[in-house]
Amino acid sequence: MMDKLTIRDVDLRGKRVLVRVDFNVPLDGETITDDTRIRAALPTIRYLHDEGARVILASHLGRPKGEPNPALSLRPISAHLTELLGFTTAFCPESIGPTAQAAVETLADGDILLLENVRFHKGEEKNDPVLAQAFAKLADVYVNDAFGAAHRAHATTEGVARLLSPAVAGLLMERELSVMGAALRDPERPFVAIIGGAKVSDKIKVIEHLLDKVDLLLIGGGMANTFLLAQGYAMGKSLVEGDQIDVAKALIVKAKDCGKDLLLPTDLVVANQFRADATARVAGLTEVGDDELALDIGPATRTAYKAALQDAKTVIWNGPMGVFEMTAFAAGTLAVAEAVADVQGTTIIGGGDSVAAVEQAGLAQRMTHISTGGGASLEFLEGRLLPGVEALTDR
Ligand code: ADP
Ligand code: MG
Repeated sequence: MMDKLTIRDVDLRGKRVLVRVDFNVPLDGETITDDTRIRAALPTIRYLHDEGARVILASHLGRPKGEPNPALSLRPISAHLTELLGFTTAFCPESIGPTAQAAVETLADGDILLLENVRFHKGEEKNDPVLAQAFAKLADVYVNDAFGAAHRAHATTEGVARLLSPAVAGLLMERELSVMGAALRDPERPFVAIIGGAKVSDKIKVIEHLLDKVDLLLIGGGMANTFLLAQGYAMGKSLVEGDQIDVAKALIVKAKDCGKDLLLPTDLVVANQFRADATARVAGLTEVGDDELALDIGPATRTAYKAALQDAKTVIWNGPMGVFEMTAFAAGTLAVAEAVADVQGTTIIGGGDSVAAVEQAGLAQRMTHISTGGGASLEFLEGRLLPGVEALTDR
């Protein structure tokens, strides 16, 4: 049970409902190249429509730096939304002020209006109270369904939530918080975390936080290089963070002290260049040449990590095992993705690149939960309170 109210707890008929969504989709000109984020918000939008709310959608798109920028207009998204929903939605070329106010006044129960990019206003990212007030004037109730933006205290994610009451979670937000929250609070065990990706420094707080909760931690990707260096292995020209060696050492000690297994690669795929067509070879930990780079976990490590996942009942995965963007270095990430898909239990994928890897492997449908928020899920897994969630009305 969530400790914040959700749209299912409040009566919305006839109410003007300001909904913060995350429609920050990749665009090629006016063409949406990936509409996952729009689709993720549809259940909430449909629910509000069916409940007879007057729905006002607000989102950011890209980084217009507080100025109107036609290339970052939400207008093409409005057209796509109409297509996806199967009924007409309106678009307002402003997000606040008399134009927006007038557009809201024309709404009948169940109607949907999409406002222009909220980051066309300087105050958005500064969480300016005057701007938050201008958004609050448009509506009676606030809904936050933009999990991917909830780690930022902006006018439409935090400021306005403090001005409208009730301020409640949408269905996507609710799902993100409940699935990940349950895994952290009361996981079915064994609970395994897989942490990879480029850098130790990006994920150190996640590792620290999860180490207390998990039974087993698997480390891969570029960050494993720093752990291996900390253990005295020469890593050649691999990506390593010299200033994180002591941190890596301390984490290995901490894991030992609290009786948790922390697995590191036992072999690697190395190459002499960071290139897709570089000649790759498998190397033991003592065999990385001075001019070589470790770009993936090796076959023995793949087997060990698969075995470690076999009996898992809860898995959180954040960060690829290697440079999966290049086929020669994708096997480790693919093997782990398959092993996670096979898990009979709760599987959660967070992190933009990890999600991309799972989708690329065609395994997304077989995971319990794919988080829509890269940065937000990272902060959530660090145990931090997300300002966009904190600002919602307590149950
Ligand atoms: P996520 O987005 O899932 O949180 P990160 O952004 O932390 O993941 O890391 C993903 C990036 O790490 C990918 O672009 C991948 O190519 C890179 N990476 C993984 N392993 C290595 C490695 N051994 N050397 C260099 N880069 C790596
Ligand atoms: Mg990333």
